[in-house]
This record gives sequence, C-alpha cells and structure tokens, in this order.
Amino acid sequence: MSEESAERTAGRDFVRDIIQADLDAKRCAEVVTRFPPEPNGYLHIGHAKSICLNFGVAQEFGGRCHLRFDDTNPAKEEQAYIDAIQRDVRWLGYDWGNHLFHASDYFEQLYAWAERLIQDGKAYVDDTPLEQMRTMRGTLTEPGQASVYRDRPVAENLDLFRRMRAGEFPNGARVLRAKIDLASGNMNLRDPVLYRILHVAHPRTGTAWCLYPTYDFAHGQSDAIERITHSLCTLEFEDHRPLYDWFLDNLPVPARPRQYEFARLNLTYTVLSKRTLTELVRHGHVSGWDDPRMPTLAGLRRRGVPPEAVRDFVRAIGMARANSVVDVAMFDHAVREHLNKVALRRMAVLRPLKVVIENYPEGQSEELECVNNPEDASAGTRRVPFSRELYIEHDDFLENPPKKFFRLAPGREVRLRSAYFITCREVIKNAAGTVVELRCTYDPATRGGNAPDGRKVQATMHWVSARHAIAAEVRLYHPLFTRPDPGATGDVLSDLNPQSVEALSACRLEPALAQASVGVAVQFERLGYFCPDPDSESGRAVFNRTVGLRDAWARVQAAGAANR
Ligand code: ATP
Ligand code: MG
Repeated sequence: MSEESAERTAGRDFVRDIIQADLDAKRCAEVVTRFPPEPNGYLHIGHAKSICLNFGVAQEFGGRCHLRFDDTNPAKEEQAYIDAIQRDVRWLGYDWGNHLFHASDYFEQLYAWAERLIQDGKAYVDDTPLEQMRTMRGTLTEPGQASVYRDRPVAENLDLFRRMRAGEFPNGARVLRAKIDLASGNMNLRDPVLYRILHVAHPRTGTAWCLYPTYDFAHGQSDAIERITHSLCTLEFEDHRPLYDWFLDNLPVPARPRQYEFARLNLTYTVLSKRTLTELVRHGHVSGWDDPRMPTLAGLRRRGVPPEAVRDFVRAIGMARANSVVDVAMFDHAVREHLNKVALRRMAVLRPLKVVIENYPEGQSEELECVNNPEDASAGTRRVPFSRELYIEHDDFLENPPKKFFRLAPGREVRLRSAYFITCREVIKNAAGTVVELRCTYDPATRGGNAPDGRKVQATMHWVSARHAIAAEVRLYHPLFTRPDPGATGDVLSDLNPQSVEALSACRLEPALAQASVGVAVQFERLGYFCPDPDSESGRAVFNRTVGLRDAWARVQAAGAANR
C-alpha cells in the first residue's frame, strides 16, 4: 500500500468509503465538496465537524471544496456574519482558494429554472394564506388538500410570478410552489414552496430582488451549477433528499450531484442551535459571539483552543450516520492533549499567599533556569527571578493538614519548582484569623530544587517572586449550562449556569508572561492552560483559562477499560 492510501485508510468512514468507490468506478473524475453556511450567525464546533469533513475529504482525495454562502434569507443575514465565517474557516486551517460562492450568485438562473417549472406545468402560484396552507398540507396519516389555485393555467402562473418579481405584491401575498404529490408520505414532496415574497434588501444583491428562493430550491441546483460531486449534509436533510433529487430530475441542470447525510455533532452541556446562540448574544447572557464560554469557533479561539485541537477532536469522534451526544469532556481532552505537547510552561499564582524567606538577604535576587516544556526539548529554558518575598498558592498551605495533604504546613519542608527547598517556620494571621503570610527559611544547598544529601520532600510547588511578578486578572470558565442536556425540560435560558465565569483579580504571574500572545495558550504549572484575553491590550493583563489539567475524559476511559 502506498503511504498516501495508507493514510486514507487510517481515517476511514462511510463517507470516505463512498467517495473511494465512486472514484474507483469512475462515477466522478474528481471530488468536489462544499461547505454551505447560512450567514445568520457565527460558526460553532458543530460546523467544525462539517468543515473538517468537506475540506478534509477534498484534501485527502485531491479534489476541492467550495465555500458557499447559503444566503437565501436576507431577513436574518448580515455581512458581519459573512466576514466572521470566512475568518473562522481560515483559522481552522482550510482554504477555498478562489472557490468562494453564494447562492445569490445564482438568483437569475434559479429564477429562470422556476419559470421553466411553471412552463412545464410543475409549479404554480398559490394565494392561500400561509397559515391555511400549513393546515392543508395534512399530517403523516392524512394526505394534503389541494389549493384552489393548484390548477391555475400556465400563462396566469407565469404572469403572477413575473409580477411577484416586479414587486407588485406585499410580503406573504402569494408563493410559488412545486406541483409534486399532495399524498406523499414525505411531507417535503407535498407541493413545497420554492419562492416567497420578501421586500428586504440583501447583503449582496441589494434591492434587486423582492422574492427569494427557499433553501430546498436553491441548494441542489447550486450544487449542480458548481458541479459538486458529493453534497454532504446533516441527517435532518435526509427527508429532503427526494426533493433534492426531484429538482435535479426535472430541470436541465449541468451536473448531477448526490446528497449524503451524516450525524450532527451534539455535545453535553452545550447548545449548538444558532437560534439559541443568537438569543444569548442579543440578550446579553454572554459578552458576544466570541465570549470564551460560547461553543463558537471565535469563542474557542479567544479561550485559547488551538485549531489543531478542534481538528483532532473531530477526527476522534469519527463520522457516523447515527445521531449521538458526545461528552464535552472528550473535547477538553483533545485540547489538553494537544496543548500538553506544544504549550510553554510558566508559573502563575491565582490566589496568592505571601511567603517571606527570612534567611534570604533583603534586596538580593537571582535568576533560576526553568524548562519551557518537558515534552519538547527544543522549547529550551528561561530564567525566572527569585527573591526574599514570594507568592505561593493559598491552597498549597494548611495550618492543620489532614493526613493526605503533602504540601506546605507549619514545620514542613517542600520544594519550590526549579528553585529551593523551603521550610515553614511561622504563620502570620490577620485580626480575623485568616493566614496572610508565612515566614519560611530556605536551604541554599538545594539550588535548582535538589538536595545534595538526597533528602526527599513530598511536594513541589509553583511560586512567583513578589517584586518581579505581573499583576493579572484570570478568568476561570465553567460550563455555560447546568444540565448536560440544556433545554430538555423546556426553557433553555433557565438552564444557564449563573456561575459560569469566576474572575480572580489578584493573580501574580512570572515576568516571562508579559510576552504571551493573545490567543496562544501556555501551561500555568499545576493549574491548567491559559491564554491572554484581547482585553489585555488595554494595559492590564487578563488571562482566560482554556482548560484545566484534571482530565475527566481520561478517567471515563480508564473506568471503561477497568470494566471490560
Ligand atoms: P440553521 O440552518 O438552523 O440556521 P445550521 O446550524 O444548520 O443552522 P448552517 O449555516 O445551515 O447552520 O450550517 C452549515 C452546515 O453545517 C450545514 O451543512 C449543516 O448541516 C452543518 N452543521 C450545522 N450544525 C452542525 C452540527 N451540529 N454538526 C455537524 N454539522 C453541522
Ligand atoms: Mg442549516
């Protein structure tokens, strides 16, 4: 097997099998896919699955993937979304080259095809009010009823349709419907709407149109125009496939694409409905589409999630045909795995407790060599200042430690990472009895963190030099929803987690963190992965926690292995 085909087999799934079979049987000469977002919101982690699939298979099979905006509903679409979507697809690592398209590029052609259906007696203008039309469509057990306009003569249909285009009628006055089968078991074939009147300016076509095609009428024909070979979409479109095919069968399209469906991504504790995400933004439940708690690509990026981790995650969940819900811990796991390999290690104290090293000379300081990434020798080392006054994590000290607490306690010796062994000599409290300072001594012979006499300590702790540290705010994020299945019992807003952000404002960071770049995560030793927030650009350092170190998913897997 060639290296290339070995790689293809490695990530095999039913979509790739279909494509390989089509290529082998010469049903298509090359693979052409498309990612078709509607520009009515930002892309989220669910879209990432579709992007990785569409662009991924095109790459793997030497074909191409188009970015096509499904811009058929100007009432909800905006240029800002078009821009954000392009930025986010690029960020994820994909490139459509010069294959950027819009359903609106085809409005003229689609309109001409609609007239063609009218001329062929396969479409009619219906004046039935929308509410009534809905009830007349019947149910799964009852056939639909014919509209009194169903048998309108061709000439009258054509005249009315042209006048619809000319702007003679108000919104909702009439629609164009395909004439298919009112008794069909598939509701989508019960004379679906092809065009509706909408006197709304379009981000691209301006006021040229006042009637717009429906998704169903635009999608397959756009695929055919672009000579898409494999039109990959989510399962909810399975029932639309007969309609997709009906249009292609009944119109003189230049090519014959095929639609295949795969399972949508669902994640626990996460909402991936654009309608709900829009509501969260509009009503200020989050700070914007790029709020680090949002499942949007912009939010993940701001939180410090690297695009490689998103791609790794999509690869790990695989491409199935059956719907399922993925544990959000699996996403965090992918982020952590990737960052563990690439993130620089730094020291930061989130809840500082002051430590004074009594036998360290006042005014003196020194620099200690620290490894940047134990997983990557090429990341090198850095120098971290040490001095008489330090901060350690408040949680790393207990005055009356229980049996299994191995960190600092009165009289106990611990290691400060890459620095010295210190021993706690005295605990200083304020009037309220809270510990506010520790007086310690250090052993100068343990420089670098090892005792020449081989004596051991039970804990290694992170620290920063008080005089050299950078003050920062660190934002810890918790799931935006309190339920694994937000909205399951009704109102999704009532499942919002009131404590999804915890802002710690008195944090202290080692000086090297002044060079950290916005969006690039580093590991704060023993705490997790963090990256500077764009809010830092106003001067004061603000960091976001990308993900903690505790790996819930690894535990789930380990428990599964133990049970097998
Ligand atoms: P809506 O159509 O309700 O506005 P949508 O999430 O389907 O929302 P689109 O912009 O139409 O938004 O989606 C673009 C593409 O991404 C579609 O092909 C869709 O099937 C796919 N997609 C959307 N959500 C998911 C998801 N959760 N998992 C996988 N693919 C998805
Ligand atoms: Mg959609």
